[in-house]
Formats: sequence, C-alpha cells, structure tokens
Amino acid sequence: MKNKFLLNIRSLTVSFPVKGDLVPVVDQVSFSISRGESVAVVGESGCGKSQIALALMGLTSSSGTINMKGQGLEVSKAMIFQEPMTALNPVLTIGEQIREAIPEKINRNRKKVIEYLNQVKIGKPEERYGSYPHEFSGGMRQRVLIAMALARKPVLLIADEPTTALDAVIRKDIILLLKELNKKEGLALLFITHDISILKIIADRILVMYAGHIVESGPTDRILHNCRHPYTKDLMALASLEKDEKGRFPAIPGSVPQPENYPSGCPYHPRCKSAIDICSREFPALKCAGLQKWSCIHLNSAGRTTN
Ligand code: SF4
Repeated sequence: MKNKFLLNIRSLTVSFPVKGDLVPVVDQVSFSISRGESVAVVGESGCGKSQIALALMGLTSSSGTINMKGQGLEVSKAMIFQEPMTALNPVLTIGEQIREAIPEKINRNRKKVIEYLNQVKIGKPEERYGSYPHEFSGGMRQRVLIAMALARKPVLLIADEPTTALDAVIRKDIILLLKELNKKEGLALLFITHDISILKIIADRILVMYAGHIVESGPTDRILHNCRHPYTKDLMALASLEKDEKGRFPAIPGSVPQPENYPSGCPYHPRCKSAIDICSREFPALKCAGLQKWSCIHLNSAGRTTN
C-alpha cells in the first residue's frame, strides 16, 4: 500500500544535557503530514514546539524516526524563522539574498528573483530588488524570508511563529499568503504558533503540545469547538478573553515547567482544574484521569494521540 504521508514522524525525542542528565524537551512525539496539508503545532512558549521544527531541519540532534516519503531527510523543505530582521543579512540587498537562496546556479538570476518577489506579493519587485532589509517593514521582510524559502522549492514549509513580531493587520496578510501557498501550490505546511486566533485560518489539523508531549490532536474544527484535554480547553478559552487592565494578554495561571523540573505524574497537574489525586502520581499514558473517570483517552501507550 502506498504511504499517503509526506512526513511521518515516530517517537521523536530531543534531549539536552542538564547537570549531567539528558532531559527530554520533546518526548516520544509522533505525527504525520500529508502533501498539501496544513498542520499547526500550538502550545505555550517552552512546550517544545520549536524544537520539533529544528529537529526536522536537522538543526538539533534527535532520536526517533523522521521519514519524508521514505527518504529520510532528503526531501526538500524550508523554514521561516520568527524574526526576519535577524534572519536577513543587513548588508546585502533583498534581491541578492533571494538569488543566493536559489540552489541551482543556472537559475540564480534577476528574472527568477523577480518571480519570487511577485509570488510573495511584494509590489514593484524590479525597484525593490536593490532594497536593503532596513528599508522594508516587518511584514515585507517576512515576505522576503518566505520568498527565500520558496526559492529552495520545498515540498514542506516549516514556519516557526512567523508572525510574532507583526501587528494584527500584517499578521493576517502573512497568514493568508502562507495559506495560499499551501492550497494553491500544494505545499505542506507545519505552522508553529502560540496564537489561538489564527488557527482557524491557517490549519487543517492541530497538534496541541504541553511539556514536550502532544496531548491532543485533531481536525481544526474539532479542536476549536469540541476539544477534550483539559490543557487544550484552557488554551482555547484564552481566545475569548480580553487583555487585562494593564494591557497584558490573558494566560493560563501558573507556567510551563522547565524540562528538568517536570512534576511527577501528569505534567499539567499543578495547573489543571480537573486534576484528581492520581494525576500527580501517574502519567496519563492511556487515559486522562480528570475526565469522566478515566474514560476519555488522549494518548496511547506509545505517547501518540488517538484522536
Ligand atoms: Fe488534568 Fe489529570 Fe488530565 Fe493531567 S491527567 S490533564 S492533571 S485531569
């Protein structure tokens, strides 16, 4: 039977040495992405989302299996980073930087660069070829990074919080551009974010991460309107809350534990409103204890979601 998945990850683990021990920041994570599918990984900062992206790009060491069309890490992929100003070279024009990103020497020419600038909707591309990054707004710089990613002809685009530094209007423009590339060009998209408000636009499917684990996954509509895991519920509830009187964004009380300080049992138990006694002793490898007396299954014994 043909494998319908473009990317198939099994038991991915990323660990860092802390005081002589190897501490997992991504722990036995498994998921797949099909060609043309857009998958969002969502969770608070420090849950391990970006480490998955770095492992996929081969930028951090990991264990487990990363299989792309059965060819290991050979299939083309490109990554868009959070902060375009630091990802771009300030002393090279944006045209030169896109030109250098084109892998085949034969295509490294101005005409090809203009095509990419058009594809990411940068107006007057002929004029903008010679502009420097500091002459562009944050949104335009992010478009340049997307153009550089496209120049590598990826089948999988990995976007790590690509809109964090942008204001709301520009953020939506960039999301719509990525979605268009995903649907029109058939690019698979792995979109990493902590912004719940954009999930509906960008994602076909959502993976929810907490403390290095995927705690729940499913189609976007199901996760947004009928999620099951208490962490997912708390996270989704934030979308309907206003900023507080000091203008701070709403947050779940408490904070994500550092990997070296993960609590015993379920790592969410110190913050979970549904926690019961057993949650502090047993990891919910099979079931989530607080929901209908162990009847709501989130994870199978390999740590994979069953949704
Ligand atoms: Fe909450 Fe217990 Fe479920 Fe963990 S296992 S999410 S603490 S109810």
